[in-house]
Amino acid sequence: MDKREYSRKLFERALSSIPGGVNSPVRAFGAVEGTPPFIVRGEGPYIYDADENRYIDYVMSWGPLILGHAHPAVVEAVERAARCGTSFGAPTEAEVVLAETVKEAFPSIDKLRLVNSGTEAGMSALRLARGYTGRDKVIKFEGGYHGHADGLLVKAGSGAATFGTPSSPGVPADYARHTLTAPYNDLDAVRDVAKAHSDDMAAIIVEPVAGNMGVVPPESGFLEGLRELCDSIGAVLIFDEVITGFRIARGGAQEKFDIRADLTCLGKILGGGLPLGAYGGRAEIMDKIAPTGPVYQAGTLSGNPVAVAAGAATLKNIDTTGFYEALDQKAEKLARSLVDAANEAKVDVTINRVGSMMTLFFCPPPVRNYSEAASSDIEQFKQWFHAMLEQGIYLAPSPYEAAFLSALHNEEHIDITIDAARKALDNAKKTLIERNAVT
Ligand code: PMP
Repeated sequence: MDKREYSRKLFERALSSIPGGVNSPVRAFGAVEGTPPFIVRGEGPYIYDADENRYIDYVMSWGPLILGHAHPAVVEAVERAARCGTSFGAPTEAEVVLAETVKEAFPSIDKLRLVNSGTEAGMSALRLARGYTGRDKVIKFEGGYHGHADGLLVKAGSGAATFGTPSSPGVPADYARHTLTAPYNDLDAVRDVAKAHSDDMAAIIVEPVAGNMGVVPPESGFLEGLRELCDSIGAVLIFDEVITGFRIARGGAQEKFDIRADLTCLGKILGGGLPLGAYGGRAEIMDKIAPTGPVYQAGTLSGNPVAVAAGAATLKNIDTTGFYEALDQKAEKLARSLVDAANEAKVDVTINRVGSMMTLFFCPPPVRNYSEAASSDIEQFKQWFHAMLEQGIYLAPSPYEAAFLSALHNEEHIDITIDAARKALDNAKKTLIERNAVT
């Protein structure tokens, strides 16, 4: 019996009207082969596909759903906002309140601008950093992903890494040459690149915990070193906290590691599952944005009232005592049990985890940068991924992504996941034995 027959039919149909059948590349299962389940609804930690299969979801819409799917407070806020009108293209009180809430969480942000996605946040922050400094060059990290804007699609992670096009055709070489790269966690390399261009260095943009080469935490001193470097050459330090903001702490990596960026990009949890992003930072820099300043950035739907309502409801409902501690404990248990299960199965793995975001790499430790992440065994990952999916565990269909927990994943879900993982790791082990027998 084909458990995903209807999804398969939908995928075939989708292929004739949507490129690759999907509206964002990694969804197509290109890295793992097979057909993606088409989702009809979500509830708490679960999603249900078009054939009514239920999965425990660790993708959580790639991070936004820290409260789980269809949280009643978020749904109610969305309904209430929509009834009052879905868009005005004019200022609203709710935008001001949300901006104030973000500022409370991120002391480095004096002012912020709401946009519609993480891509827009990164793209706009970069333009602003260039406009503010009057310089062109920017450093990003290999395997870092900041959305698909031209200047940031150079040695990019996430889907770009998955599909082997980390630097996309269509990005003019004249433009890409202003984007310099360095390996993550390698301060000496960053310093060398920066010093070679110090008069023209506008910004360093970094995911303070990398999430798009799989999860890779910053080594001790790395973020502080970037801070010092930016100060010494007069460049803007941009923290892309699209994933980490409100995820690893309310105030993101800046709270967790006690460090301040000049500009911060936000998205995902900020919009509670609706399209919303933001960039913000020091007033002196933010005041260079139009209409206060000359750097242009605008949006018909920016500050959309429905998205703002979903974001505000999410930020309110995660503002409870012990919220992050509880998430962290569950994530710690999941990570520890996965390592135990891998040891039992004698499969080499590395688990990188920061709070409720984690990645299981099929390679021995450490994974500190993109080239180490890329050394993980793709065949084993595929076996693992499909074995988990068959057992009702929905993971990101690429080895370069994070798994996310929500407040509604409980001990029982984690136990079920670990039981499934034991079987899936056995499968992954068999693949390795069979392959070694052939070679
Ligand atoms: N920055 C980071 C760190 C991201 O992980 C992503 C998307 N996963 C983006 C930016 C782009 O965000 P969006 O997909 O909302 O455009």
